[in-house]
Amino acid sequence: MRVLVTGGAGFIGSSLVDRLLAEGHDVVALDDLSTGTLDNLSDARARRRFSFVRGDITDGGLPDVVTAAAPDVVFHLAARTGPRASIRDPVEDARRNVLGTVNLLEAARASGARKVVFASSGGAIYGNAARQPVSERVGADPLSPYGAAKISGEIYLGMYRKLYGVRTATLALGNVYGPRQEPDDDTGVVATFCAAMARREPTTIFGDGTNARDFVFVDDVVDAFVRAAEKPCDGRRFNVGSGVATSVRQLHALVAELACRADEPRFADGRLGELHGVALDVSSARHGLGWEPFTPLREGVSRTLAWVSRSAGG
Ligand code: NAD
Repeated sequence: MRVLVTGGAGFIGSSLVDRLLAEGHDVVALDDLSTGTLDNLSDARARRRFSFVRGDITDGGLPDVVTAAAPDVVFHLAARTGPRASIRDPVEDARRNVLGTVNLLEAARASGARKVVFASSGGAIYGNAARQPVSERVGADPLSPYGAAKISGEIYLGMYRKLYGVRTATLALGNVYGPRQEPDDDTGVVATFCAAMARREPTTIFGDGTNARDFVFVDDVVDAFVRAAEKPCDGRRFNVGSGVATSVRQLHALVAELACRADEPRFADGRLGELHGVALDVSSARHGLGWEPFTPLREGVSRTLAWVSRSAGG
């Protein structure tokens, strides 16, 4: 199959590219390299069945790029990622994450692509839902422009499905972590703790550390994307997480233990748009995609630490 991966130079996108190439697919990655890097694609670029296009999903020339790629399936991951960046600049968030998605859907439709698989956010769309773990049946209640943009993308996907018959699937991802994730205080708390501990630098927890996340390893997420392309998904949203809420304080203790460092974080004030906690009910993905999370948190954090040490040359 021929596939287009938008955001293909990013953390999750590049891991998906590697998996698709390993399975023998022809892959085009499109990325504006705003946060993604060509380093993430160094293995892919050595492969014959791979090509990279530097481009912006909001660009008027996108339909030509997608038509030239002639994909059977489009994996749409390009985005400005994370709630806090979107709170700082909601207009830029909407430009990339709403207009970019509409532009991409229009280009995919015009190219005759069979299916679009969209990366939404289980952390951002449900808000602080009263019942945990959160199932897909819970109404959206985003606490950030980023969450609102993801819901909007899902609505556009549903509309394209009805209007034009484009097949679609949405994966609402938990807090994804693993090799290639950049340390940042928005979505990358695992990478941030791992990088700081590898460099023997202090770590900071925002709030009292009881805020919880559903941490899910990148390989598990990539597996869900591949399955979503293959299975008849009927335009549905599938939660993709571990199903378990882990507090940031518990995560810190685990990273410290595995990195053989002191478990002594600093604490700073909590931040706007921060969720109290979310765990995703993944039973729909289990039944609809035949998917299960398969990497335990301890193993995933160990692999992330090993990657951070290797990339720091340590
Ligand atoms: P990332 O920042 O590593 O990847 C996003 C990629 O999109 C980057 O390579 C960036 O350069 C590219 N990009 C951004 N704007 C673009 C534009 N206008 N045109 C072309 N390319 C553009 O982030 P990630 O963590 O790999 O996230 C991938 C997807 O998964 C995103 O849609 C994100 O919202 C979603 N997601 C991620 C998480 C997580 O925990 N990392 C959780 C939920 C959802």
